[in-house]
Amino acid sequence: MKTRRLFTFLLIATALFSSSCCSNNEKSAPKSAKNVIVLIGDGMGPAQVYSLILTSPEKTAFQRFPYSGFSITKSASNEITDSAAGGSAIANGKKTNNGVVGMDTDSIPVPSMLEMFSEQGKKTGVVVTCSVTHATPADFLAHNISRQNNEEIALEISEKEGLDVLFGGGKKYFTERKDGVDLISKMWEKGWNIYDSLPQIEDNNAKTMVLAARKHLPEAPKRGDFLPNATAKAIEMLDNEKGFFLMIEGSQIDFACHDNDSATLVEEMRDFNKTLDVVLDFAEKDGNTLVVVTADHETGGLTFVDPESRYTRTDFKFTTGSHSAIFVPVFSYGPGAERFTGIMDNTEIISKIMDSAK
Ligand SMILES: [Zn+2]
Repeated sequence: MKTRRLFTFLLIATALFSSSCCSNNEKSAPKSAKNVIVLIGDGMGPAQVYSLILTSPEKTAFQRFPYSGFSITKSASNEITDSAAGGSAIANGKKTNNGVVGMDTDSIPVPSMLEMFSEQGKKTGVVVTCSVTHATPADFLAHNISRQNNEEIALEISEKEGLDVLFGGGKKYFTERKDGVDLISKMWEKGWNIYDSLPQIEDNNAKTMVLAARKHLPEAPKRGDFLPNATAKAIEMLDNEKGFFLMIEGSQIDFACHDNDSATLVEEMRDFNKTLDVVLDFAEKDGNTLVVVTADHETGGLTFVDPESRYTRTDFKFTTGSHSAIFVPVFSYGPGAERFTGIMDNTEIISKIMDSAK
């Protein structure tokens, strides 16, 4: 009797052990990301991130990311890239010449990750604080030989299928055009809802464009919480069963650094930080969202030094009014985030993202 009981106990124990073993295996299998959010700090090198840490009494959103690495930003034509080539390499994985948007060095259009995710049936969106035709958003939305062709880029955006949400500035490229065409009326006719501000949005399910400025939005903090609010609204509108892709740009970190304006840089970084908190709070709750933060290049050659070499002061020191060659940070969170560590080329980011979202 005793032996039989022991045998039964062993049988049950084995069954329990093997079932818990298998469900554990299932759990540890790599999970695929349903949603992908890419945030680009234009001109945001390691020092721009550190400028926020240096001036923040609280822990920053950057410090919430479990994984980080570095991305080499040089373009096909130059050791120092511009936003067009730097953003293009992130958006489509191909190095191109400075000034070129969404095309390779032979001027052949290369599909962006936004276009690839849209093909997969995901909703897509772009949120920026510059004109929506500016280099970085254009890298995800258009294909043009020159970033200067704002009106051509606006035309391409207006005809774009597979784009659901677009928030930023640049209204003049849609309505004050050399060809006299009012692209906004044309887009309304095709079913787009188009507004000047976020609170005007009524229908979360319609394709929606908000152009909140004639060109770029004002600098931080004069534009209020446009970027974090637009990000929250975009996520609310895009979230659906099949998943979504959203690119958000802190566009004016670059502008502040071109001006060697440290006070505005810190305001821009605070604004970007608030936006990161919005994204991470959603990703934590959702559990199926990959978040990748990086930059197209560094601007200003920024560092922090004591001019008297006594190690006691941390004065902001810009070494150029242009871009620099220094690599930029990459931060990641969510399914597949462990892929974004070490030193990578900016062209590798797209394959790591696509592998994480298979
Ligand atoms: Zn720049």
